[in-house]
This record gives sequence, C-alpha cells and structure tokens, in this order.
Amino acid sequence: MKRFTCGELVEVITAYLDDALDQPSRAGIEVHLSCCEDCGHYVDQFRSTIRALGDQPPEKLSHGTRERLMSAFRSRRPA
Ligand SMILES: [Zn+2]
Repeated sequence: MKRFTCGELVEVITAYLDDALDQPSRAGIEVHLSCCEDCGHYVDQFRSTIRALGDQPPEKLSHGTRERLMSAFRSRRPA
C-alpha cells in the first residue's frame, strides 16, 4: 500500500474524489486521512466547495478553483 505524505495527498486529491485512483492509492489516502486531522479538514473543505459549485466532478472544476484550494492547502502551516 502506498503511504502518502500531506504534500503528496494534495496532488492526488482531485483524482481521489473523482474515484480515479487505483485501490492501493485509495487505501493509502484513507489511512492518511484517518490519522491526519489536518488533511481530513482539507478534504472536507474540498468536498463542500465542490458541492457549492453544483456537484461537479473534481476533474471538471475550473483550473482557478482547483488551484485556489490547492494553494490554500500548500500554504497552511505544517502540522
Ligand atoms: Zn496529512
């Protein structure tokens, strides 16, 4: 099973939310989310943003929206 760092997780989160990852990667993300509160909050935020935009698959988010979410994540203070 792949182990994700916080930085790696953000790079694949849209694929994860879009069900585009293989099973080992999904499992690795779920393990990370279950023990990293910070990333859990980030994913929640990402999901609610997607919902607010009208249930679009993450891959269809505009480039600007995705970049905004990702840069918010990248610029947060290290846990
Ligand atoms: Zn994390």
